[in-house]
Amino acid sequence: MSPDLTGERYEKHREAGEILAQVRAETAERVEVGASHLEVAAYAEERIRELGGEPAFPVNISIDHEAAHATPTPDDDATFGEEMVNLDIGVHVDGWLADTAITVDLSGTSDLAAAPAEALEAALDVVEAGVETGEIGAEIEAVVDGYGYNPVVNLTGHGLGHWEQHTEPNVPNRGVEQGVELEAGDVVAIEPFATDGGGKVNEGSHEEIYSLEREASVRNRQARAALEQIVEEFKTLPFARRWLDTDRAEMALRRLARDDVVHGYPVLQEQEGCLVSQTEHTVIVTEDGCEVTTRDR
Ligand code: MN
Ligand code: MN
Repeated sequence: MSPDLTGERYEKHREAGEILAQVRAETAERVEVGASHLEVAAYAEERIRELGGEPAFPVNISIDHEAAHATPTPDDDATFGEEMVNLDIGVHVDGWLADTAITVDLSGTSDLAAAPAEALEAALDVVEAGVETGEIGAEIEAVVDGYGYNPVVNLTGHGLGHWEQHTEPNVPNRGVEQGVELEAGDVVAIEPFATDGGGKVNEGSHEEIYSLEREASVRNRQARAALEQIVEEFKTLPFARRWLDTDRAEMALRRLARDDVVHGYPVLQEQEGCLVSQTEHTVIVTEDGCEVTTRDR
């Protein structure tokens, strides 16, 4: 039996997607040479709240060979140069998510920026109840390959759960045999990445994004204050160090991470000197296609 796609949960996914489409467009316009990373991220996160949502995770600003999990530090003074800029933004409404990404090319490599966008459209064309995730990946791989680039194969799309950014199923960025069938009512993010590098990202050393692993009693005052804010405000969703109100947030996070109360997300990156581009939409799978919640209105 098909699920009721008019239910409250889906209405909240749609509301999150609508807010996100507007914020993505407004934020992308602000990405230009000389603009501040921190101001762009803070603008997007504030705008999400003004429009009635909450950020589902810190705005990711990935530059050149970076692919994911980079976000400004609390006192970041970096500005955009002539670079490949990926913006990845999420919104939730009462824990129901939308997730989107766009590449703004300031580097003059427009075909690399175009590859994942076209791959995503090809992927969306085949999404419907019963499609295998491996078939979606094959569409993505074929388009990116046609541009002469590689898909990033160890980053994937994913399901979106309640207060959970990443759930089953994975949606691969290449054709695979062992895919799963999507069902009507599944809410999934599809996110092709393209690169002129080898197509595999590695963990860098820097972490600015964390999420809660388990609740625990904590003695240190700043760590306890940070944990209270995390449990209350972010729950199990990722958050940035710069979002914490406590002083000495870096020390607090180090203690919480050491005790496995939170875990960090290292920046994921290709080899230095390579470029990575990304495009992402969130969809609700239907019997005969899909509804793209994050589509431009
Ligand atoms: Mn994303
Ligand atoms: Mn995603």
